[in-house]
Amino acid sequence: MAIDFLYPEFEVVRDQSRCIACRVCERQCANEVHSYDEDLKLMVSDESRCVNCHRCVSLCPTRALKIIKSPHTFRENANWTQDAIQEVYRQANSGAVLLSSMGNPKQFPVYWDKILINASQVTNPSIDPLREPMETRVFLGKKPTNITRDQNGKIKTDLPPQLELELPILFSAMSYGSISYNAHESLARAAVEMGTYYNTGEGGLHKDFYKYGAHTIVQVASGRFGVHKDYLEQGAAIEIKMGQGAKPGIGGHLPGTKITGDVSATRMIPEGTDAISPAPHHDIYSIEDLRQLVYSLKEATEYKKPIIVKVAAVHNIAAIASGIARSGADIIAIDGFRGGTGAAPTRIRDNVGIPIELALASVDQRLREEGIRNEVSLIAGGSIRNSADVVKAIALGADAVYIATGALLALGCHLCRTCQTGKCNWGIATQRPDLVKRLNPDIGCRRLINLLTAWEHEIKEFMGGMGINSIESLKGNRLMLRGVGKKKKELSILGIAHAGE
Ligand code: SF4
Ligand code: SF4
Repeated sequence: MAIDFLYPEFEVVRDQSRCIACRVCERQCANEVHSYDEDLKLMVSDESRCVNCHRCVSLCPTRALKIIKSPHTFRENANWTQDAIQEVYRQANSGAVLLSSMGNPKQFPVYWDKILINASQVTNPSIDPLREPMETRVFLGKKPTNITRDQNGKIKTDLPPQLELELPILFSAMSYGSISYNAHESLARAAVEMGTYYNTGEGGLHKDFYKYGAHTIVQVASGRFGVHKDYLEQGAAIEIKMGQGAKPGIGGHLPGTKITGDVSATRMIPEGTDAISPAPHHDIYSIEDLRQLVYSLKEATEYKKPIIVKVAAVHNIAAIASGIARSGADIIAIDGFRGGTGAAPTRIRDNVGIPIELALASVDQRLREEGIRNEVSLIAGGSIRNSADVVKAIALGADAVYIATGALLALGCHLCRTCQTGKCNWGIATQRPDLVKRLNPDIGCRRLINLLTAWEHEIKEFMGGMGINSIESLKGNRLMLRGVGKKKKELSILGIAHAGE
């Protein structure tokens, strides 16, 4: 008999004195952890199936449940941790590549937490954001070097197409297929309400969402799923996805179990087939090739839409960004290695790429040095958790930020990191109709609006504190930042002084 060396990661603790055997937990758990034992006349649990998504804990009417990390110990040491041991067992069982979802969880430095923001005292007084106007609007796209005006002061220069955002935050790419219809609808409606944009990812655009087109970024990825002329025309901007922070250098994979009904129609691939996008675009092997695609897309949409090129933050990102800026792209989106995903090989997610903070600072610096910073706008993504991260990203040189995991948390995600199974109990990363309907788009949209509204208030407070009344004045303003506890080299890449200097 084969022995299973794996031990359940979590324990379900049920207070039987509180449990009324209502079986809510049984009905709510797509992983089939809970069941009623007719002989014992008790609810029982199969802990080996628990992913700690908290659905049962949140809905248990008597608070009878608690999920705890199993205290079971492995004979671990500094080198062979419990995770490292269990991963070997898992691969010895399956012979397969380990898959995970969401961002890199390893203990690499989080630079955001080592950067502090300035505030005015005495001179250059602070501004009260409740009494003074604060401008958080940004325009993303190429900016002309000179502007000419007619005798009435009207601008004569043809401005390249711009994306206008009421606040410097966009929802990052999440495809229909990796997330549910209701999750997409929540994002689309919140983007409209907040004067920002959401992003189709590489899954195409469901026809029901064409009405949100003015607030949609349509993505063209290497698999070209769901890409056609109508699709390109619907979007306010087109994003060429060259890379993704969670899995730099490899393609995407949406399992066939998630390619059902409308998802397959929207992607234009048969039901049940795995959607595997190749690692490279098969027509891009140089900046010149990229330029051809950028201009083909501009041509196809009559030069009315900005083109975004999204890349993963990797070692020579500054040189890569310089090339992209020269390819004719209007916006560069850089995705750091802590960026989330619906599914990625665990080893790639945990070991490839670099932190967005360092990538962003070095790209902004390089583009300034080369005198081409105005040729492109920069969007930074991949670990933005709160309004302070947004402020720090902008002061490091971003024009705006992408958020995704934060938005999913607002929708109810509990970061159980099992999106790849398609059994999301919160109705987000699933296509199972019984699970999808658990996310009410009215409530989802409202929660996203609340999140962005709260962040906008806080951003204005930070700006007022710094004596700045326009987000434009904060862009690349590294004097507003100081580092703590970091080495000289790291501070020099970030381009900021140490606290106390
Ligand atoms: S939801 Fe709570 S009260 Fe109901 S069966 Fe489960 S543990 Fe018991
Ligand atoms: S989206 Fe759902 S499955 Fe994915 S981490 Fe969040 S709760 Fe878990």
